[in-house]
Amino acid sequence: MAVVSIESLTSAAKAHKEAVVGIDLGTTFSLAAWVDGEVPKVIRDENGQVLVPSVVSFTDDNDVIVGWPARERGLLDPEHTVFSVKRLIGRGREDLARELGLLPYQVEDAERKLVRIKIRENRLTPQEVSAEILKDVKARAEKVLNRKVTKAVITVPAYFDDTQRQATRDAGRIAGLDVLRIINEPTAAALAYGLDSKKKGIIAVYDLGGGTFDISILRIAKGVFQVLSTLGDTFLGGDDFDRTLMDLASTELKETHPEELIKSPVVLQALKQAAEKTKQELSSFETATLQIQLDDPKISYVRQISRAEFNELICPLVERTIEFCKTAISDARLTPERIEDIVMVGGSTRVPLVSNKVEEFFGKPLHTDLNPDEVVALGAAVQARILSGGFKEMMVLDVTPLSLGIETFGGGMSKLIMRNSSIPTRASEQFTTYVDGQTSVDIHVLQGERELAEDCRSLGKWKLTDIPAMPANAPKITVTFILDANGVLKVDASEERSGKELSIEVQPSSGLTEEEVERMVRESIEHAKSDVENRQRIDLRNEIDSIGRATVKALEQTRDDCPEALRSTVEKALIDLLAAAELEDIHQIQQAIDDFNEASEPLAKLQMDAVAKTVLREEQSANR
Ligand code: ADP
Ligand code: MG
Repeated sequence: MAVVSIESLTSAAKAHKEAVVGIDLGTTFSLAAWVDGEVPKVIRDENGQVLVPSVVSFTDDNDVIVGWPARERGLLDPEHTVFSVKRLIGRGREDLARELGLLPYQVEDAERKLVRIKIRENRLTPQEVSAEILKDVKARAEKVLNRKVTKAVITVPAYFDDTQRQATRDAGRIAGLDVLRIINEPTAAALAYGLDSKKKGIIAVYDLGGGTFDISILRIAKGVFQVLSTLGDTFLGGDDFDRTLMDLASTELKETHPEELIKSPVVLQALKQAAEKTKQELSSFETATLQIQLDDPKISYVRQISRAEFNELICPLVERTIEFCKTAISDARLTPERIEDIVMVGGSTRVPLVSNKVEEFFGKPLHTDLNPDEVVALGAAVQARILSGGFKEMMVLDVTPLSLGIETFGGGMSKLIMRNSSIPTRASEQFTTYVDGQTSVDIHVLQGERELAEDCRSLGKWKLTDIPAMPANAPKITVTFILDANGVLKVDASEERSGKELSIEVQPSSGLTEEEVERMVRESIEHAKSDVENRQRIDLRNEIDSIGRATVKALEQTRDDCPEALRSTVEKALIDLLAAAELEDIHQIQQAIDDFNEASEPLAKLQMDAVAKTVLREEQSANR
């Protein structure tokens, strides 16, 4: 028998219990990754899916649906389907003028500059909705890895301020995750490509996702990532590419169909799906079909489109991203030649015109080996591994994206920690009083780059009281800012002569209180089991629904070839299956699906043959 040391036994046992993951909580898609041995891997579920749409839909019974089925409900029940919640997290209503015009669900003002999303009688914070996405990602990871997942690194855009980071962390906690660290998306992407091992260098991270574009210029030196500049357009992404195709189709549809019809939610939903599919096909093929077939309302539209035509439609959008690249580089006081590595991130960088234009602009080959929609999660997984004691030789530090300071007499902003300082860090400064006999001072903590306090974001206001009365300028008040590795700020203030002290963990003014987070964590644990079961039940019912539709179609397609006996077996099995959708017990529903799949297998074979025959016929007639 092999001798195994106790040490390795216990660590092996531990490894079995828990996995630490990296999570990319995206505006349009979210996903998790982990490090398997030494290799970062994305979590792929049993259907081969990696991405979870960042969409949460609430049914009439207030069941929560997340991901693909939620996205399907999107345009059909827009008021109760929340997408792009990342646009709202950690932001007050006054920051959201442009977003609110685009979101079909109701967003209300709430206490402490928070917003809440109104879903029927409930009013949810963006943190809670984001937590639903995280819970889903966590549950999928647990299922696939067959271990518990309680610790995670979550990524955020480089431009996220303290409040947005804190809110993201709270979302993680509500989902039952211990958030080891919040890191910048471009930093994670660079990490996935192993660029941290560069002794020194400047890299650009070009990230074109579903609804947003970000360009970040980073300097790497011995594992420290410094964001030299970050810029972008929060309203530019793959959705806009889809829209060009939707516009094209609706303009052409208007010639034969009434306009109101084309604007109906069902048709818009179909248009959006068709457009996205065609766009993605054009990333791999020179031509694709843009096709919408609906029975109710009756709509039929088919058109071929070439990549060249599509490029023409999206060219102005792509050009805009290049303009941002130029500005970001000049903001960092650099020229394109100085950039050594260019990392491509985001599903939309799969569009050939995008990579061509970016390559042409930088004049060097791009890093595109990893899947662009997976790199951020992969890098987060590497960071998670480092933080949990793996990859010992690596060290990664982020920097704070915005300066932190306090308001001085007359409404100025005095900066203690400058933006781009690597964290953790601390800084102190001495202040004094302006009026004779002043016994208290306001400590108004600010974040931002502007000179006037009113132009910066207020993180909170506290009073240092009971200072003994002294002439103006006599008291010596030392203010110390301590910024931890997660970018969370603690402020200490003390008056030298009296020894009066004040210590505050800064609670961002539009964040949640500790009690609120704790309550949400509690509630989510209390509901965890029934939540999971409810969601599984909904998923299974949806599956039955689509099996039903697919079977009807298959019976139709095999009309001439399907033996009568098989037809009646399948029809009977289908009736049983549809009845099973009404059951409560998820195991029974799953069993019914398995039974049906077995009974209908010969039909699936016949259908494949029928489809192959049709394709062959079409090819033959095309060749003739
Ligand atoms: P996020 O905005 O959440 O960061 P992603 O980086 O996953 O999202 O990007 C999502 C976008 O990428 C969507 O608009 C999607 O249609 C697009 N996309 C995904 N695959 C392709 C492809 N093969 N070709 C073109 N666009 C794609
Ligand atoms: Mg992204």
